Amino acid sequence: MIGQNGGTQTAFSTMKPTLCPCASGKPFSRCCAPAIDRSCVPESAEALMRSRYTAYTLLDEAYLLDTWHASTRPAAPLFDTGSTPKWIGLQVRTHRQPDATHAEVEFIARYRVGGRAHRLHETSRFVFEDDRWLYVDGDMHEVHNAP
Ligand SMILES: [Zn+2]
Repeated sequence: MIGQNGGTQTAFSTMKPTLCPCASGKPFSRCCAPAIDRSCVPESAEALMRSRYTAYTLLDEAYLLDTWHASTRPAAPLFDTGSTPKWIGLQVRTHRQPDATHAEVEFIARYRVGGRAHRLHETSRFVFEDDRWLYVDGDMHEVHNAP
């Protein structure tokens, strides 16, 4: 697959981070990479959420759209090339799975736009459909701007 799609996404092989961007502390190759390169499906909503965060850091629009539930999936393009945030950290706070096909993940993601740091605090909802987890939507908590 590498080398076929041109642009920034081919940097995958040469710029592969040692540790996964999702801040799990695990090597990228044994954390989110297998989900993003489609060699396996994330086993939980939290794993999917982490892989989607990592896909944001890699600007992997195809993966993000593919893991978005059809009922809420936005139209491409997802990224505005002028002001793309630089994602700099992820903290998963809670992962709740009230039943076999629904889950919620609360997280704080940190990012920078134009040199200013921001925090995104969200609870995302996921459903299990066709043997895999899909992102549905999320509620934002209060917005914190880092000092
Ligand atoms: Zn990861």
